[in-house]
Amino acid sequence: MFEDIPVDVSPMYEGERIRSANMFVELAGPKSIGAELVQVKDNVEDGKIEVKGPELADMEEGEIYPLGILIEIQGEKLEKELEGVIERRTHELCNYIKGFMHLNQRDQIWCRVSKEAKESGFKLEHLTKALSTLFREEFPIIEAISITILTDKAEVEVFLEKAKSLYEERDARARELSDEDVDVFYGCVMCQSFAPTHVCVVTPDRTALCGAINWFDCRAAAKMDPEGPIFEIEKGEILDEVKGEYENVNLVVADRSQGTFDRIYLHSVFEYPHTSCGCFEAVAFYVPELDGIGIVDRDFKGETPLGLPFSAMAGQCSGGKQVEGFTGLSLEYMRSPKFLQADGGYERVVWLPKEIKDALVDYIPADLIDKIPTEEDVNSIKEIRTFLEEKEHPILERLKVSTEEIETDEKPIETPELEEIEEMDTREVPTSPVAYASEMTLPTSTGMKIILKNAKIYAEKVIIKRK
Ligand code: SF4
Ligand SMILES: [Zn+2]
Repeated sequence: MFEDIPVDVSPMYEGERIRSANMFVELAGPKSIGAELVQVKDNVEDGKIEVKGPELADMEEGEIYPLGILIEIQGEKLEKELEGVIERRTHELCNYIKGFMHLNQRDQIWCRVSKEAKESGFKLEHLTKALSTLFREEFPIIEAISITILTDKAEVEVFLEKAKSLYEERDARARELSDEDVDVFYGCVMCQSFAPTHVCVVTPDRTALCGAINWFDCRAAAKMDPEGPIFEIEKGEILDEVKGEYENVNLVVADRSQGTFDRIYLHSVFEYPHTSCGCFEAVAFYVPELDGIGIVDRDFKGETPLGLPFSAMAGQCSGGKQVEGFTGLSLEYMRSPKFLQADGGYERVVWLPKEIKDALVDYIPADLIDKIPTEEDVNSIKEIRTFLEEKEHPILERLKVSTEEIETDEKPIETPELEEIEEMDTREVPTSPVAYASEMTLPTSTGMKIILKNAKIYAEKVIIKRK
């Protein structure tokens, strides 16, 4: 199927990382620009592939280039609502290609091509060919597909603007609905390929933490493929409306996380926050000294007032962990009236990067806008405290009460010890499977056979003994 592609293409390469020492070039990512976009269209010329701009052969080793991936699809059963979900699969399918690494989604994509792939003759043209085949295999409802790769800076700039406005259209639609308006939420386990216990719960108010999939997208995906990675979750009994705890959501999360987690609060960073895979757009983190919450997003380059950059914050909770005091979230969730409502919403926020604050200016309560500092106002916890006092941030009331509580009985949440994290690892800390089996039979002592099909096996430790 991939005979004309000079590198292997298989799900077994999904966990492959290409470190800077090994890379031929980097495409898109934090030091350049890029985006991916799937569009359902009429008159798609099936099989058309095109690379507009420099090919790998025209690129300098070690350099960074812009990248646009435009995937146009057509099919009788293809609805526009499926664009977001099909687009999200670009990440996984690109990673099937040995020597090509893809991280994140939408305009956050970050890719690398390995030196080995380049030496074996791999070109961007092969990326388009492989994706064409993989998308058609994954989504039989695609009847025609055309893929264009853009590497010319001016073209990528135009493409990026167009993609951003289409992402905004998708997001705006979901803003019209609330959690109360629906009987079902959706779950997504697409990121279990690198965060095996992570289950996203997507509700009208809580867009998935990757920011790429909202409730409408999930509805369309679950309808198209009920057995696929996106599935319906009946809300069941509401256990706590403010925290966003639902009986059936807990049961489904327990089942899909292989029993690792059995409680999730959708709207809190405390006790049982939503788990975080690694591709979240931002992290909410508890600041114990102020009993407040800080938010830092992927694009923020500096250090937060805790002295840690985004990457270190992300390292605390990624990989599918549930860590009290931390949760990955999408910027769209910060536009919801339910944004961390159990914790006080924006009244609890004590620090935000300036860029996010500006982008959310219409969603932060007007009386709080000037009371939440950014990196332009403060650089340390001490400076935040002074700022909050000067501006009479409502957290001061809470701070008084919580200080009294801590003195009596409450144990504050500790910030976990930091491990040294490599720059790239923190985006998505992929856990590579130790084995991949298209089909494997395991003998048992009872004479029964266990057959694994398309299984990926993850393990903390593998012990091989000589017989
Ligand atoms: S972050 Fe969540 S919603 Fe987005 S692809 Fe991963 S599992 Fe699915
Ligand atoms: Zn993810």
